[in-house]
Amino acid sequence: MEDRQFRNAMGKFATGVTVVATEVDGNVHGMTANAFMSVSLNPKLVVVSIAEKAQMLEKMKQSKTFSVNILAADQKELSMIFAGQVKEYQEVVFQRLGNVPVLPGAIAQITCDISASHVEGDHTLFIGKVIDIRLEDAEPLIYFSGKYRKLADNNE
Ligand code: FAD
Repeated sequence: MEDRQFRNAMGKFATGVTVVATEVDGNVHGMTANAFMSVSLNPKLVVVSIAEKAQMLEKMKQSKTFSVNILAADQKELSMIFAGQVKEYQEVVFQRLGNVPVLPGAIAQITCDISASHVEGDHTLFIGKVIDIRLEDAEPLIYFSGKYRKLADNNE
């Protein structure tokens, strides 16, 4: 099977968009990710999938903590910045939730300790034990078929 066929099929799964953030030696690193899901309610666990070529991989291993920041509809620019799609470096100010950096304006900020990691193919799955959550009431940014979208109608 062609890679393109696989990518196209996976792109048919509409998702939100997150920025995963972690901190090593006082330096915050963020990365756009939509391979995120809830895993367990008791205990509260989530998973993110990080490519082996991503700078984020080693930083997560070192830090052992991370945040998942679910982006609001008006945060497409941040998604592009943290996906390396913006040429010039843009300064982004992070807040803190406990000891972990989180993105202001995200509709959910979820902080985690890494409880397990599993190498699968060219990605590593990090299981995060949820430590804290902060929510904002706003619409989500959506990603579908390689394009950013917004919810058309929130009344149904
Ligand atoms: P870099 O490419 O070095 O960093 C990414 C960008 O973030 C750079 O431009 C850097 O300057 C900027 N940046 C980092 N930290 C800061 C900071 N503190 N302040 C300001 N700027 C900063 N890849 C996956 O592995 N898993 C996924 O689930 C995934 N989902 C994606 C979903 C979408 C919608 C998109 C668009 C991309 C996705 N990617 C995913 C790809 C991933 O976001 C990119 O490959 C990314 O560039 C990899 O980042 P990196 O850790 O290698 O670091």
